[in-house]
Amino acid sequence: MQPSFDGGRLRPKGDGGSRTVTLLGATGSIGRSTAGVVRAAAGRFGVKAVAGGRDGEALGQTAIELGASFAALADPSGYQALKAAVAGRGIECAAGPDAVIEAAVRPADIVVAAVAGTAGVIPTHAALAAGRTVALANKETLVCAGAPVMRTARAAGARLLPLDSEHNAIFQTLGATPSAALERMTITASGGPFRTWSTAAISAATPEQALAHPNWSMGAKVTIDSATLMNKGLELIEAHHLFAMPPAKLAVLVHPQSIVHGLVSFADGSVIACLAHPDMRVHIAHCLAWPERIDIPTRRLDLAEIGALLFEAPDFERFPALGLAMAALRDGGGLPTILNAANEIAVEAFLARRIGFDEIARLVSNVCEAAQANGEGREPATVAEALAVDHIARDRARAILADGIRSGMVTI
Ligand code: MG
Repeated sequence: MQPSFDGGRLRPKGDGGSRTVTLLGATGSIGRSTAGVVRAAAGRFGVKAVAGGRDGEALGQTAIELGASFAALADPSGYQALKAAVAGRGIECAAGPDAVIEAAVRPADIVVAAVAGTAGVIPTHAALAAGRTVALANKETLVCAGAPVMRTARAAGARLLPLDSEHNAIFQTLGATPSAALERMTITASGGPFRTWSTAAISAATPEQALAHPNWSMGAKVTIDSATLMNKGLELIEAHHLFAMPPAKLAVLVHPQSIVHGLVSFADGSVIACLAHPDMRVHIAHCLAWPERIDIPTRRLDLAEIGALLFEAPDFERFPALGLAMAALRDGGGLPTILNAANEIAVEAFLARRIGFDEIARLVSNVCEAAQANGEGREPATVAEALAVDHIARDRARAILADGIRSGMVTI
């Protein structure tokens, strides 16, 4: 299902009320940026519910700041801190996975799905099943369970607004052009902190070096994924589902300045790109106000000041994770789900200094290879099946971690 362009059911400005927003992942990087947009567009948006992971105090403060009436924390161990933070404020609180689902399905004009990682699959799917318009920042929802999630969205008449910067850029460039005229979709990659490093230097990279992203300030998971370029591979899988584009028509272009975010090439040779300084508030504002636009105080683009925009082809030798993800997209079935699960375990292990940077892609490769050898490549038919495949892949990744990652990289 492509995002539809018919104006939608979102209430336009001037109908006498603000647009209501639910914010899942309120204490993370996208959540904080969304709070910034809501504040900048004073009165335009009213936040109803917020949900967070485990930091009860931070979630409580966010709920107060945004005037939310309901705050849901995924991890019950933070519930007392949440209660204490909102004491006397009249904010309803709850904790546990069901509380996050409750936040996701409460009536709101837009649900911003910005939970980090695969933890976002169930609440995002619940919001779509309830027919909500979802501004999607959680790419793992479509990587882990793309086909069943898109089926749910279609069946419920739910709208997906792409919030990830590259997909939002493509969404902005597409307009009402029929998909038959699209020749190629290209998402850009900054190249991450190791773009110019040698293979040997990349192998020895520390978590601190990998977390020092040159352009974007993001959460730890996506920052490591940006350093391996796995993030770009996951985004290709996301684009495949969001825009119903075949893998062969999706491409990655390295663009170290992160000014051009996405490009669409048409059958007549035209290319339309979307440009902005790297600031998620641009894309959040676009989703929240869509199909209108709002004035927010982001840095304006001065191309004369920038002078030149630089591009290069991705290097699959030094960044094998990108090739693994592209192979998973091409081969399809359960591989994207398995790749995503293995990658989350690998990134956790790297951040915990259990494995080296180069072993992230090797572990993912080992897990995909083992799953294929066991005939586990069938595409999950439901979200529950996808999460079961995810679970098995995580167990396998942990087992390989315990036994030792095999050297070499297979082609999946
Ligand atoms: Mg992105």
